[in-house]
Amino acid sequence: LFAGETDFLKGVVAMNGLPDADRAEVCFAGRSNVGKSSLINALTGRKALARASNTPGRTQEINFFTVGPDHYLVDLPGYGYANAPVAVVEKWQKLLKQYLSGRASLRRAFMLIDSRHGVKPVDEEIMKLLDTSAVTFQVVMTKADKVKEKDREPMLKQVRTALARHPAAYPEIILTSSEKGWGIGTLRSVI
Ligand code: GDP
Repeated sequence: LFAGETDFLKGVVAMNGLPDADRAEVCFAGRSNVGKSSLINALTGRKALARASNTPGRTQEINFFTVGPDHYLVDLPGYGYANAPVAVVEKWQKLLKQYLSGRASLRRAFMLIDSRHGVKPVDEEIMKLLDTSAVTFQVVMTKADKVKEKDREPMLKQVRTALARHPAAYPEIILTSSEKGWGIGTLRSVI
């Protein structure tokens, strides 16, 4: 992934809106407010490509971005949104399950975890879904600048312990801060 080669393609609300699975793609998942938009903007080098806000009307969309001519980057809607109506959550979960279990071109999921909060039960749910869908996932810690250096190792330990329970987890964790630019180059090269 190179800065500047990414463009917004479309927002998808149902399976029949997905683009053809003819390009390798990676997706980004995480709780709402985890820093997903900021990370995608930092990765792509485009300030407002992914919206750095939680517009409630857009919480159910799967956003597709083209990366050069041959790849997609997929921004999954944030989950665990406080006060989301049950019907909205259910519709979202159904779409997410369908996407994760049926997307042949999906090469890896990046699971974003807030460095201050660690792995939460809602994250575990998504990880289980990735296990059963046999989608390899890699954890990206966000907002690392918000955690004191001495608190980083205990947090990573909690995450490693959680990952050990998931067969689809890739063991290497990437520590990032969109604000400081930490880990962005590493994540680009992994993608
Ligand atoms: P999203 O809901 O997951 O897309 O999260 P956003 O990207 O909108 O970020 C949520 C909030 O966290 C915003 O106020 C961001 O400015 C802030 N934020 C995101 N990334 C970082 C980071 O790396 N460091 C710090 N300090 N704040 C961040």
